Amino acid sequence: MRKVILASNNPHKLEEIKEILKDFNYELLTMSEAGLVDFDIVEDGSTFEENSLIKAKAVLSELGEITIADDSGLMVDYLDGEPGIFSARYAGENVSYEANNKKLLSVLDGVSFLDRKARFVSVITMLFPSGDEIVARGEIEGNIALTESGENGFGYDPIFYLPEFKKTFAELTSDEKNDVSHRARALKILKEKLQQRNE
Ligand code: IMP
Repeated sequence: MRKVILASNNPHKLEEIKEILKDFNYELLTMSEAGLVDFDIVEDGSTFEENSLIKAKAVLSELGEITIADDSGLMVDYLDGEPGIFSARYAGENVSYEANNKKLLSVLDGVSFLDRKARFVSVITMLFPSGDEIVARGEIEGNIALTESGENGFGYDPIFYLPEFKKTFAELTSDEKNDVSHRARALKILKEKLQQRNE
């Protein structure tokens, strides 16, 4: 099995990516599982693509193993795409998911449901020691709910409502989320590109 390092320590991302890539012969490890502890990556790009590549490059240059990075976030139409690449730190550095959700709900207070259109974006970069790179972007549209509901998932899942399911992401099972999510869509494209390369 080939080692692939996920340029993240986010256990939720790891689980989702592991599940979706399970038919490939990879042993997927987080940075800390691969021995890269307290490793801070400055994400100073201005797009998901740039930040995804920054993360993948930083980890590959430390460990020399194939690396996968996911840069993702939530773009709200009414807020001209915010919080976007700042999704993890919308309410401040090192804040809880709960604090980010509360901030977004308060910023959108009084905005009607129909004007709360939003999309999750995930850009996955897979970088090889040879320098080869594969980039894949996935998106899913929904609405920001009026209140939080559901216990599953992470991040903005309790306030991201999918009209076709009549549920938030946090009310879906992990299988249901992994069928339709932005990350699943990006990984599906990644898988096709890997198959084309006979990986
Ligand atoms: P990153 O780790 O720098 O890519 O930041 C991603 C941030 O976007 C996370 O901290 C979450 O706030 C948000 N996010 C990305 N993907 C998801 C998801 O699948 N569900 C909920 N929130 C997400």
